Amino acid sequence: MERWLALELASTIRHDGAGGVADDLATVEGLADWLGEQSGRLPGGLPAGLPIDERLRQEVTGLRRAVRALFARAVSPAPPSAADAGRLMPAAEAVAALNAAAALEPVVPQLSWPPGEPPTAALLPAADAGAEPEPEPGPESAPEREPEPEPDPGSGARAGLLAALARAAIEFLAGPQREQLRSCSAPRCVRYFLRSHGRQAWCKPSCGNRARVARHAERRRTTDPDSR
Ligand SMILES: [Zn+2]
Repeated sequence: MERWLALELASTIRHDGAGGVADDLATVEGLADWLGEQSGRLPGGLPAGLPIDERLRQEVTGLRRAVRALFARAVSPAPPSAADAGRLMPAAEAVAALNAAAALEPVVPQLSWPPGEPPTAALLPAADAGAEPEPEPGPESAPEREPEPEPDPGSGARAGLLAALARAAIEFLAGPQREQLRSCSAPRCVRYFLRSHGRQAWCKPSCGNRARVARHAERRRTTDPDSR
């Protein structure tokens, strides 16, 4: 199954397994872990010299707010994920936030066509374009860098990451997969997911089981004459 960076970002808000909501990006350490896992989905991997700090965490989670607001718009008129349904960023504001982040870094389209493999296109930073792209680092190559001295020499890398995340969200939202996006309707689940077949209403089988149990209990409650 294809995994979309925008969907991965939105899914860092998830059911914690105990009836609550967990946020994988609640700490700088959590952000570092997540970025390490996603580096293979970023064209060119994680930007070199990226300072993974509280400021970056706030910028990434701000972008996530915009993405989740637009996911809510995409699944409408079905209800949005319950995790943030009551405090969604207005859609126009979310669109502006994505576009502003995408504009942080100029990019150009680049073709990659290794022997024996199908050709692929990627948008690479204009500064890096024109050369063979380096092989993408694996998920285990999460950088653990010390914060660098002032004045913010990581600003280019920071802009590069935010722009790459925004581009991924724009590509997702403007493409055909948007129509397959659903919010899981199982009790307590807060996930958005891509429907892979006709009437799929749940993100995974265990959510389907939970929803069926809840529906069965509800049916018994409403048809049992003693409970009326
Ligand atoms: Zn679910």
